[in-house]
Amino acid sequence: MTLKEALNLSPEEQQSLKSELKAKIEASDLNAYIDSSDDGCGGVPIAIKDNISVKDWDVNCASNILKGYKSPYSATVIENLHRGGMSAFGRTNMDEFAMGSTTETSVFGKTLNPHDKNCVPGGSSGGSAAAVGGGLAVAALGSDTGGSIRQPAAFCGCVGMKPTYGRVSRYGLVAFSSSLDQIGPITQNVEDAAILYDAIAGHDSHDSTSANIEYKPTVIDSDRKMTVAVIENYLEEVDAPTRKAMEESIEALKSAGHTVVYKKMMGTKYDISTYYIVAPAEASANLSRFDGIRYGNRIEGDNLEELYLKTRTEGFGDEVKRRIMLGNFVLSSGYYDAYYIKAQKVRHLIKNEYEQIFNEADLILSPVTPSAAFEFGTINDPLEMYKSDMFTLSINLAGLPAISLPVGKDDRGMPIGAQFIAKHFDEQSLFDGASSLEKIINYKG
Ligand code: GLN
Repeated sequence: MTLKEALNLSPEEQQSLKSELKAKIEASDLNAYIDSSDDGCGGVPIAIKDNISVKDWDVNCASNILKGYKSPYSATVIENLHRGGMSAFGRTNMDEFAMGSTTETSVFGKTLNPHDKNCVPGGSSGGSAAAVGGGLAVAALGSDTGGSIRQPAAFCGCVGMKPTYGRVSRYGLVAFSSSLDQIGPITQNVEDAAILYDAIAGHDSHDSTSANIEYKPTVIDSDRKMTVAVIENYLEEVDAPTRKAMEESIEALKSAGHTVVYKKMMGTKYDISTYYIVAPAEASANLSRFDGIRYGNRIEGDNLEELYLKTRTEGFGDEVKRRIMLGNFVLSSGYYDAYYIKAQKVRHLIKNEYEQIFNEADLILSPVTPSAAFEFGTINDPLEMYKSDMFTLSINLAGLPAISLPVGKDDRGMPIGAQFIAKHFDEQSLFDGASSLEKIINYKG
């Protein structure tokens, strides 16, 4: 059942939908959920990633360090769900502190891909994507710092949308990289993504980076003709099935009457280098608050320093520690100019590059990932793993909105996604374009 359909159910029917889902979640072996908590509010159940605060629920960010911590308040997006006739139902699994691309770094164990249990579901919102792709949720919320909504959505055959930076409040989202993080929907189709996005978007005085600019609810027009830019050099960096799916999408857009133009960008190597300086730098500052004193888990020591050391050593997993060390390194005196400042300059160039393309195009079409979901254990080198977000990172660095949708399958039958990118605050075009492509490709994950 889609979100649109579920919103039309009676309160009693919505209640029985919850019981149905609860039974399915308990019978499933995907490990998409950490638990099936209910916030007690009526409405359509929406699955919530483990880094979004819901009053009185545990919020663990899939980390040992936050075990036992309960949110004293709900995130703004949760309050907005209630106003829109929805409720928080079920905690979904994720990579620890949203750092990862496979949902393997969770203290609650890995989540499996609903299309092939030997494959990763993507990350870090892998639980939310596996839940929607596996029929265990009507829709879900995830967070996207460098691709964590769009990449798992692509791997699990669903739609994932990252709003413009500032469009959706981050109040109550546990911060990973504050200048990149955005909460967004993971759904079964484009229309549902627009419904959920409309419900959570808007200005919030609790978040100083929330944009106080006019917001119009989405009215999808899939017949609108647009100019779509394709990043030519990105097509050379994907595997054969992904390239085929991209080429079919381009043909589909042309046949629907859209104009396709070809453009080039600097190259994903700059995006990866910039992201892995900016994101760890901000993460190292954000995660310093988890010290055993204020939140969750505490490992006692003989003195305060030992308490900090033991708590953080035992509380954080390897990937989180790697990012904290990297972040502290690039921010330390002597290296700050060479790495952090330089990364900020490149970030600016990336933003300019997008602006140039948007002078000539309404939308950009790009791959989401270099290949469909891979098997567990095939990528063990952290640097190799960082490449799986090569096409999604720059969008967060530029603060742009983007949506990924399923456009094909590879020879193993694993879903392949493509993403549209739009100008700042032009989510309307994003939904129009994605809906137009969805209609012609008519692909069901
Ligand atoms: N996979 C990327 C990382 O590990 C992106 C994560 C995200 O978007 N939260 O940082």
